Amino acid sequence: LAENKKYHRVMLKLSGEALASDKGFGIDSDVVNRLCEEIKAVTKAGIEVAVVVGGGNFWRGLRGSGAGMDRASADYMGMLATVMNALALQDGLEKHGVDTRVQTAIEMRQVAEPYIRRRAVRHLEKGRVVIFAAGTGNPYFTTDTTAALRSAEIEADVMLMAKRGTDGVYDADPKFHPEAKMFTHLTYSEVLQKELKVMDNTAITLCMNNNIPIVVFNMDVPGNIEKACLGEKLGTLIER
Ligand code: UDP
Repeated sequence: LAENKKYHRVMLKLSGEALASDKGFGIDSDVVNRLCEEIKAVTKAGIEVAVVVGGGNFWRGLRGSGAGMDRASADYMGMLATVMNALALQDGLEKHGVDTRVQTAIEMRQVAEPYIRRRAVRHLEKGRVVIFAAGTGNPYFTTDTTAALRSAEIEADVMLMAKRGTDGVYDADPKFHPEAKMFTHLTYSEVLQKELKVMDNTAITLCMNNNIPIVVFNMDVPGNIEKACLGEKLGTLIER
């Protein structure tokens, strides 16, 4: 397994939903368990794993639970939600014997390390999983953008977008258009031009400017996280 690995360091973007049951809310221990088993297998293969986790299973800024609120306050609540997910993930990983550090972009020293780039890189080099919490620390951003930013900062080889309920990027929403086709390959500009709903434009642009390839894949299929991290062809690849 380890010999055919394509990546040295990966960024795994998990939405908050990734930790939830099928209802999409809260944290489901069975789901977290399976997730952690897969991440453990990846670290065993000698691949450095950084994780950015979202918060949508608890709270989303203006587009969601925070509708009607002041934008910045709603967004800060979303960032706090990601910290809860990061702690749950850390707990799960450590129960599986995987050394894990949480670094938060909003300081809360009793809870997690503050985000320090050099320190994060050092953890990764030592084989620890690093979970980046609290997004970028700034309202008006998303955790997809956080994943792109941190990917650039830690020089990840690829950004892996683990999705639930979809195999990759389609030309139309397959829920409403059964004839929709999945792309196996796209360029950044195609995503922008076709206005494909993969992630926000800020995230895509950041990946484009820093030449970070993106793989969008289905994490519902057991083994797919491992496959994606090993660089097997999966889902949709977005690059230059
Ligand atoms: N958020 C933010 N700045 C960031 C990252 C996240 O303000 O840098 C807020 C934003 O309100 C967002 C929420 O946190 O809606 C949860 O993150 P996201 O929606 O990206 O989570 P996901 O959809 O991946 O679960």
